[in-house]
Amino acid sequence: MRMSKFYIPTLREMPSDAEIASHKLLLRAGMMRKLVSGVYSYLPMGYRVIRKVEQIVREEMDRAGAQELLMSAIQPKEIWEASGRWENFGPEMFRLKDRNSREFCLGPTHEEYFTDLIKDEVKSYKQLPLNLYQIQTKYRDEKRPRFGLMRCREFIMKDAYSFDVDEENMKTSYQIMWEAYDEVFTRLKLKYKVVQGDTGAMGGKISHEFMAMSEAGESLVAYCDNCNYAATDEKADVVYKVNNEIEEELNMERVHTPNVTTIESLVEFFGIDHGRFGKALVYNIGEPIVAIIPGDRELNETKLCNYLGIGEHDLELANEEIILDITGANKGFTGPVGIKKGVKVLVDSRIAKMKNLIVGGNETDYHLKNVNYGRDFTGEVVEDLLLVREGDICPKCGEQLKMERGIEVGNIFQLGTKYSSALDSNFLDENGKEKPFVMGCYGIGVSRSVAAVVEQYHDENGIIWPLVVAPYHVIITVVNTKDESQVNLGEKLYQELGVLGVEVIIDDRNERAGVKFKDRDLIGIPIRITVGKKAGESIVEYSVRGEEDKQEVEVDKLISLIEE
Ligand code: ATP
Ligand code: MG
Ligand code: MG
Ligand code: MG
Repeated sequence: MRMSKFYIPTLREMPSDAEIASHKLLLRAGMMRKLVSGVYSYLPMGYRVIRKVEQIVREEMDRAGAQELLMSAIQPKEIWEASGRWENFGPEMFRLKDRNSREFCLGPTHEEYFTDLIKDEVKSYKQLPLNLYQIQTKYRDEKRPRFGLMRCREFIMKDAYSFDVDEENMKTSYQIMWEAYDEVFTRLKLKYKVVQGDTGAMGGKISHEFMAMSEAGESLVAYCDNCNYAATDEKADVVYKVNNEIEEELNMERVHTPNVTTIESLVEFFGIDHGRFGKALVYNIGEPIVAIIPGDRELNETKLCNYLGIGEHDLELANEEIILDITGANKGFTGPVGIKKGVKVLVDSRIAKMKNLIVGGNETDYHLKNVNYGRDFTGEVVEDLLLVREGDICPKCGEQLKMERGIEVGNIFQLGTKYSSALDSNFLDENGKEKPFVMGCYGIGVSRSVAAVVEQYHDENGIIWPLVVAPYHVIITVVNTKDESQVNLGEKLYQELGVLGVEVIIDDRNERAGVKFKDRDLIGIPIRITVGKKAGESIVEYSVRGEEDKQEVEVDKLISLIEE
């Protein structure tokens, strides 16, 4: 391809609304353009990258025995009503009507549709296991589309669905997909962790998320260097050091806490040594254990976020059922805080075991100390209410957990029979008995993975594509297009490399050398050949994007160098 003919509108200026590197660079490098919020076009250079990622995904899915097909993005309401998700999916679902007022959605995901597809057609256990997948455009009317390809309203996903005779076989299918995902993300050169995930809108019990580690990620990953434990902050189990000595039940005490107006001051006042924020607020001090428990529904979200210094996204992570309360640190809040009769309290099962909690005093400037669950208040005990923070204790080995941000690039789910039962999608087992398929589902964010690669591979000058996903392998820069020997040598190399099947692009534009070098850095093609002053002697400069080294190479030796 010739840069002089190529549609690659690079930008000198930083796009003003782009916050993270991948968003800025993919725009600046002329790889994509925004249509409206969360909706992008992939331009020729960018689309080449998308297709390379798709191809890697495709190869690994095929290798794992999954079969590719392509379903419609438009789905009728009826199948979603059968699973109950027409109601439950909420505003993220794009809904539309045809001319006869029949209702449809643009598929945010395809569990119902795949389950419905094989219904009545896959009839016997002999046809199982079956794994079908597609690489297709998905639609989700995200509350806050942002960060370029990271969180779009239209995006490309690979989604696969496995069908098995029973739980055990489904687990085998799940394992096979897990391994295929490891291959995909390794081939994409992503640094990633597999973590226990949230099953969210998909349902089911077990899920794992593949997190590309990056500061730009929207998810928090809690992990342990010592034993490989890793989970999203929503899902991680945390051990609380419950000191036996303080298990005794002390009497509840009312404490005047005039200066306790923030979490920090609360921590200081009570001598808490580390704190955490979760779906409930908990502070763990060894003795006594201090917890801030959920309480008052009237707190308004914005106030709470400001108070805690967290983003509203973090708050969204909290289950709606859970009433967040910043008990006791109660200045500035008018509603009742702390434990109060008649207020519904959800209590994490671990808190329910603790004695000597500190909670709000239902009065400005007062806290209650030595509060016991069960004696002083009761509530609904819930598992896994708490989120995790840096320094919490690993449930597996007792070491301290670390926290890092990650980008969810893939997610696998053990669904069980949720969809097959709901949609009457059954097969006949060995004994001729009708049974619902036992399913798994497996997603990879194809377009989001491109953003994740850029997040992990860039510098201040632009993208540094790993060879496997680079839009082209080699770029030839003709420094001076008025110099005939440079032009001729550049053309010759371009032809020769092309014949060898190397994906090569030549910058033959009549532009200043500086412009071409800047664009070359920005676009991030891995292998660079600069045809300059020494073209007459058949010598060019060879360099690799992201590496300092430059070497002068005789043209004859160039091919073997590139083949390496
Ligand atoms: P998130 O937690 O980021 O909202 P999700 O858990 O809702 O993602 P899944 O339903 O698990 O997403 O979809 C499978 C994959 O599709 C995700 O792991 C992610 O890589 C990708 N994906 C999901 N939503 C988006 C989006 N809005 N834009 C781009 N990719 C997305
Ligand atoms: Mg989502
Ligand atoms: Mg998610
Ligand atoms: Mg997910």
